[in-house]
Order: sequence, then structure tokens, then C-alpha cells
Amino acid sequence: MAEIGIQYCGLALISLLIYFTYRRKNLGLYSDRTYHLALAVAFVCLLSDVLSIHALAHMDLWPFGVVIFVCRLYICSLMLVAFLAFSYIASDALRRNVRRVSGTISGIIAIIGAVIIWMAPIYVHSAKGELYTYGPAVAATYVFSLVFVFSTIAFAITSYHYVNRRRLSSVLAWMIIWLVAALIQYFNNNLPMVGFATALGLTILFADLENPDSYIDRETGVFTAHALMSLMSQRFEEEQTFAGINIVINMEETNLTRLMQRTMLVTVARRLELIPNATVFRNVANEFALVLPDAETMEQQLPIIRAMLEEPIDTEDGPVIMHPYYILFPDSTLANSADEVFAYHSFFIQHDPEVDFRVIDEQEVKHIREELAIRNEISEALREDRIEVHFHPIYSVKKGKFTSAEALARIRRKDGTLLMPGAFIPVAETSNQIVHVGEAVFEKVCQFLSQNALGAYGLEYIEVNLSVEQCERKTLADEFIEIMNRYHVDPSCINLEVTESGSVRHRKTLLDNMNKLIAAGVHFSLDDFGTGESNLDYIMNMPVHIVKFDRYFTQAYFTTERTKYVIDSVIEMIRGLDLQIVSEGVETQEQFDTLVEHNIDYIQGYYFAKPMPVDDFIFFIKTH
Ligand code: C2E
Ligand code: MG
Ligand code: MG
Repeated sequence: MAEIGIQYCGLALISLLIYFTYRRKNLGLYSDRTYHLALAVAFVCLLSDVLSIHALAHMDLWPFGVVIFVCRLYICSLMLVAFLAFSYIASDALRRNVRRVSGTISGIIAIIGAVIIWMAPIYVHSAKGELYTYGPAVAATYVFSLVFVFSTIAFAITSYHYVNRRRLSSVLAWMIIWLVAALIQYFNNNLPMVGFATALGLTILFADLENPDSYIDRETGVFTAHALMSLMSQRFEEEQTFAGINIVINMEETNLTRLMQRTMLVTVARRLELIPNATVFRNVANEFALVLPDAETMEQQLPIIRAMLEEPIDTEDGPVIMHPYYILFPDSTLANSADEVFAYHSFFIQHDPEVDFRVIDEQEVKHIREELAIRNEISEALREDRIEVHFHPIYSVKKGKFTSAEALARIRRKDGTLLMPGAFIPVAETSNQIVHVGEAVFEKVCQFLSQNALGAYGLEYIEVNLSVEQCERKTLADEFIEIMNRYHVDPSCINLEVTESGSVRHRKTLLDNMNKLIAAGVHFSLDDFGTGESNLDYIMNMPVHIVKFDRYFTQAYFTTERTKYVIDSVIEMIRGLDLQIVSEGVETQEQFDTLVEHNIDYIQGYYFAKPMPVDDFIFFIKTH
């Protein structure tokens, strides 16, 4: 009698795998489905293996037709497991359309194999304690199974560079175990190892990849962000649309203990899991995502979700009221990939973390794509050194000549045209890019100063713009001092323009930076005075030497008597503080004359010239 114990072990192993796999939630991914099918077929395979050994051993007790049936069932299911191993690796390696073709071809081969195995003659050998089947049906099983096994191996090796390495190695391990088992069984009919090897192979896959726990968040029991990515990728690949809701649970405001936070997350997860037709994911720390079949379902469920999450949560330290905010993504056709959905989402989070309800619709996507394109443009420009500095001359009324200039950033596009700061500075300010742009500009200005003796042209200093985000960096002053040292630039040749910001934190860091730079010899201007953000408190308390009137503020002077009156008083006040004034945006002779009459110290505007590249600027200064 053959070693039937091995078969029972295999059967037990597969039964356990089935138990563990079905006990867990599953996402219904393509590879999950293949794996589940392989488990089911492997179960049939091992069961029929056991039955066939019993049948062969007791041929006198079993009707002959039944003996042949279980023998055929065994070899046929064995070949099908080999086919599924191939499909499993192919599902990961092939793009959707190729996968269809390969799936169809391999499916047809498998069907032909099954038909041959089922129809071809099969003989049984049951004598002298040796039990086995042989004949054309068995030969066909060997041939078809080996075709799939070797295709799987060949496939795994040729697609080495673009397939998940772990998946490759586990499938390869399975195939090798199988081949070894087949060899053993071939030479020793009393050791039917192949069925057991199948169970081993599937165990390897389970341990390595299909262990559904890797998709489950430990803390809350819902699916992980990794699972979300896999599910969305598959939906895009199979062109199945979906709708998504992102829910961010705000945990910053109140003094929540770790335990309270945990209770909140677990409760939110439990409540969300009650929503029908929705798959719940924990995206990151305090963020959940729901994937729903379509926008309609989303609209139906949203009020229910909101009502659910408004209910206070009972924690050990008392009830907590949550303030979740929602980002809706009703139409997945607005993105082309899971990565894009994540990009839109993180874009939203970065931009308006405060707004509690937002919809990523067509218009938003258009806007995000434009901004992402500009971000790309900025990154490339930084990498390829295509940030340029143009200079806008500033005229000193007292000295009757140009004594300084404002450095203004531009991006030289690949096609040679210029991208103006109005288009890219605000975008750079929403990401960390402004820091690099600001540094590039400052470095270019220092380079200019090190190559040109300002004094020779009658110039005293160059003004450089600083964004609020730059001033919030604790290291700003040190970085700028380092750059000035590197180019041997006299800090008194630099005037930095700062703007106002509502944030107190900003103000403290700004002051620290200003004091450090002032100690080094740099001067400061307050830019954009007269725009929405202006606040007299800045003029009174910040160590600036110059106040720059914004273009619109300057031009407002010429609109009505009332504005003229207000601006006259402001000029009076600034003078009282012993600060100097630059009027920006002066375009006409009349404006120029009026401002000169009012003793404005400096004038900057298209009246003289537009901002210009270095060489033009040097020429301009030499000739004026
Ligand atoms: P800003 O600092 O207030 O600079 C003055 C802007 O007004 C410049 O526009 C200048 O060309 C423009 N301007 C000056 N006089 C006239 C005029 O008579 N008529 C008109 N129509 N415009 C005039 P630009 O170069 O487009 O820069 C726009 C803004 O971009 C700047 O406003 C500044 O806030 C920002 N910016 C430019 N370069 C940088 C930089 O290197 N870093 C930072 N953080 N911001 C920058
Ligand atoms: Mg400026
Ligand atoms: Mg300005």
C-alpha cells in the first residue's frame, strides 16, 4: 500500500489554508481570485488522490467505473492546479490586454488537456502492494502539467525585472518542489508526493503573499492603505469605475490620550464597516477611505456616514465629539491610475487642510493637473538651472539716478519663452519648492554681485524677495549668510523684501532670521504694502528700513480724493517712523511727477523700464 499518510497531511494542510483564507476578509483582487480557485482545485486534487488510493487498494469493493472516475479526477485536477499556478504569475506580470490573450490561450490549452485526460484510455495497476495508474491519460497529464510548470518557470525568469520579486521566488519555489516531488513519484510509485507538494506550494504562497493579514490594519481591523492601492490599481486595470470618500478624523485640537485616540479609531472603523456596499480602508494614521461602487451609492450613504460620525464616541475618559472632514472623489474616470488618485488626494490635503468638505470633481482635477504640471516645470527648471533672475531698476529721487534694482525670478522654458513669477511662485509656495527657488535666486544675485562691482554703476544694493515660507525656516539666515560668504558678497549690498503674514509662529522665526541677517549687515524692506494683508503693526515693530507701496496702492493715489487723503496720511506716518518709501508700479509721467512732489524716496515702474535680463540691465544702468 502506498504512503497514504502523506496524502492525508496534504489534505489537512489545504483544509487549514482554506479555513484561514476564508475566515479573513478579502478584497477580491485578481490574484486573490486565482489563489482561491487554486486552493479549491488543490483540495479536489488531494481528496481525489486519497480516494483513488483507497479505490485502487480495494478494487474488489469499489465499482470499476467509480475507481476510474476518481483516478481521472485526480490527474485532471492536478493538471489544472499547474494551469492556475501559471495564471497566478501571469496575472501579476502581464498588462491587461496581453493577459487576456495569454489567459485565453492557456485556458484553451488547459481545456484541451482536461478533455484528453478525461477521454484517453487509462489503466490501473494494483498488484504486489504497488498501486498506480498509467496509459495515455496519465502521459497526457505529465505532458500538460509540465508544459504549465515550465511555462511558469520560463515566465518567472523572463519577467524577472518587472514582477514582484517575492511573488516570483515563491512561485518558483513551488514549481521546484513540484518537479522534485514528480521525480520522486516517477521513480518510486509508492511515494505519491505530488499532491502533498501542491499543498506545500500553496502554503508558501499563503505565507508569503496571500496571507490576508498583510492587508488588514492591526489597530482597527479594516483594510490597509496597501490594500487600497492594490484594489484601486486593479479597478483601473479592469476599467471598473468606483467612487471614493476620504475621511480625516481630526485629533489635534483636544488633549486626547493615546487610549482615547485608539478608541476613536476603532469606533470609527466599526461604524464605517456598517455601511453597505462600501469597503473600508485605513489610509494613514487618522484617515479612512471608503471605496463604493458609484457616485449614486456615495450620495445615498454620505448623510448616513456623517450622522454616524457625528455621534459622540464613548472613551474611558468620557465622550469625545469628532470633527471629521471629507474629501469626495465621486468619479474614478477622472484619474488614470491609483497613483493619480493618491496624488490628487495629497494635493487636497496639502492645500486646504482646514476645509471640512471637498469634492474632487472635473474642475478641481483640471486645476490640480495644471498645478502639478507647474510643479513639474519648477522641478525641472531647478534641476536644469533654468531659473533666471531679471532686474527691475529702482530710481532714487533724492540722488536723481538709479541706485538699486529688484531681482525678480523667471523660469526660462525649454522652448525659450519665459514663465512669469505670478504663474509659478504661488505654486512653489504651496510645496517646499519655494525654498529651492528662493535659494537659486539668492545665489544668482550673489553671483551677479561677485562678478560686477555695483559701485562702478552707481548702484548701492539689490533687493531680493522672500516668501513667507522661506522666513519660517529656522535655518534661513545661516543658509543665506553661507551663500554670501561663498561668493564674497558684502551683505550691505543686499536688501531682502519680506511680506506680512498672520501667523504668530511665523513672526517669531522671521524676527530671529531678520536679527541675524541685520547683524551681518543686510537690510530689509516691507513689500506689498497697501494690499489686503497690510497691517500697521508690522511697520511699527519689524526692523525694516524701507516700505514698498504695492502697484495698486500707488495707483490708487490717482483715483479719488479719499484714497489720496488716506495715502497722504500713511506717507506722513511712515516718514514719522523714519522709514523710506518705494513706490512700485509707476507707469506715467504724471504719476512720476506727483510722487516726486510728495517726496517719495524711490520709484520703481514701467515708466523707466520693465524688468530685464542681466546684460540688458548692465547696459541700461551704464547708459542711464
Ligand atoms: P513684487 O515683489 O511686488 O514685485 C513687483 C512686481 O511688479 C514685478 O512683477 C514687477 O515687474 C511688477 N511691476 C513693477 N512696476 C510695474 C509697473 O509699472 N507696471 C506693472 N504692470 N508692473 C510693475 P513680477 O516680476 O511679475 O513679479 C511678481 C511677484 O512675484 C513679485 O511681486 C513677487 O511677489 C513675486 N516674486 C518675483 N520673484 C520672486 C522671488 O525670487 N522670490 C519670491 N519669493 N517671490 C518673487
Ligand atoms: Mg518685491
Ligand atoms: Mg511689491
